[in-house]
Amino acid sequence: MKTIGLLGGMSWESTELYYRLINEQIKMQLGGLHSAKIAMFSVDFQEIEVLQSEGKWGEAGEVLAKSAKQIERAGADFLLICTNTMHKVAPQVQAAIDIPLIHLADATAERIVAKGIKNIGLLGTNFTMEQDFYKGRLLDQYGLNVIVPNDVDRQAVHRIIYEELCLGEIKDSSRERYLCIMDKMVDDGAEAIIEGCTEITLLVQQKHTEILLFDTTAIHAEAAALYALS
Ligand code: GLU
Repeated sequence: MKTIGLLGGMSWESTELYYRLINEQIKMQLGGLHSAKIAMFSVDFQEIEVLQSEGKWGEAGEVLAKSAKQIERAGADFLLICTNTMHKVAPQVQAAIDIPLIHLADATAERIVAKGIKNIGLLGTNFTMEQDFYKGRLLDQYGLNVIVPNDVDRQAVHRIIYEELCLGEIKDSSRERYLCIMDKMVDDGAEAIIEGCTEITLLVQQKHTEILLFDTTAIHAEAAALYALS
């Protein structure tokens, strides 16, 4: 079994989920007392969030690249960056290490394409919904037409992530807001929706809606566990 490297803490609320889901998948595959071999570095998210909001992506990338090197030195065979947003600096992180990175957008897009879906809704932080590092990859490498909410709804989705979900606050009113935004995206042509932020699954799960959801946390964790066993 390969050792999985986790670059987490963004936020720890979702990294905790990664840890559980990866171990559950390994247990399901191998049975008995089997569990995942994991080397994790969990950053201080406050420091990262300040750099994000100031647009200092290069510096944020340096922090992650340094952490990734430590994970590699700890014996990881491959790496996961446990957040959609920080894949903005994935090239910088990959350049700093010799082990491969399992890119969250790739793992997710492969599932979407396998279902024959062409028009996909995307919810995440403003960085993820508005910038090209994620949307562009879905379009250029997988031919997916990405639909995002309108400006007002994007602000709400972003605010709820940072002011509630990353702090572990799960509110019914916010779930209603998300579900309403999801319905609008379907009206705009989305055949399914990517929960493109690793905390969204804490708020909205498949049981809350008939719209097909792609839970990036679960997808990334499963991809890691299966790759570790390959
Ligand atoms: N975990 C979130 C994501 O998947 C947001 C936190 C961050 O900015 O990294 O995008």
